[in-house]
Amino acid sequence: MVLGKVFLVGAGPGDPGLLTLKAVEVLKEADVVVYDRLVSESVLKLAPEDAEKIYVGKSSEKHQLSQEKINELLVNKALDGKKVVRLKGGDPFVFGRGGEEADALADKKIAFEVVPGVTSAVAAPAYAGIPLTHRDYASSVAIVTGHQAADAESPIDWGRLASSVDTIVVLMGVGSLESTANSLMEGGLSSDIPVAVIEWGTTKKQRSLIASLGTIAKEIQKKNVKPPAVIVIGEVVNLGSKLSWFKMPSR
Ligand code: SAH
Repeated sequence: MVLGKVFLVGAGPGDPGLLTLKAVEVLKEADVVVYDRLVSESVLKLAPEDAEKIYVGKSSEKHQLSQEKINELLVNKALDGKKVVRLKGGDPFVFGRGGEEADALADKKIAFEVVPGVTSAVAAPAYAGIPLTHRDYASSVAIVTGHQAADAESPIDWGRLASSVDTIVVLMGVGSLESTANSLMEGGLSSDIPVAVIEWGTTKKQRSLIASLGTIAKEIQKKNVKPPAVIVIGEVVNLGSKLSWFKMPSR
């Protein structure tokens, strides 16, 4: 029996130019591609035309296929002898549930490889001219989720983050930004700290908004900012006005 293999591949944040050479290599050889909502069409097109393409996309409101079912799918396709590419937005191991999938594959003794991708946590700020660290402003970064499972074993301690990290990057945080901002202010962060929200980073639809921790929640409501968006909190955001370089074609 020929066993297949699963490649947990990061598709990058949107701009197809940010795909790695290794991702392109494995995509071109794929028998099956299992992909998420945030994977762009042009990346998907790199797979052979006759490869089976299975959408298991998740959006924050509805889960298309449960995580267990996705794990099962990967295992079964590999047991069928297929070369499976599990394609995820950004990096598979940064809030991509790649860890859970690798775990399920390891349990079933299925061979797998991880192909890291450019995470939106770094790329969206970069395209908005915001370096996450800077010798003058920030020497530490934390990447956190704004959307935590209700039964999470270790809820985010915003107060501790506020007092120990210079730059905070929040993914999946649009819906809960008001409560996040409040928790950070209760934890001691000044309401004047600048915050950037970068919607659809690195894509033609990129839009970024800068306000202060005290006003950002209202601002994103006013401007109707929707996921996916990366939120950056910290002094480095001030550099965004000067270093912003990515020019989108007019929308
Ligand atoms: N593994 C992904 C993150 C998955 S969680 C990565 O490394 O990028 C999904 C969250 O990622 C979204 O809610 C949003 O916060 C962020 N995200 C993904 N792509 C994005 C993009 N192009 N622009 C802004 N945020 C993005």
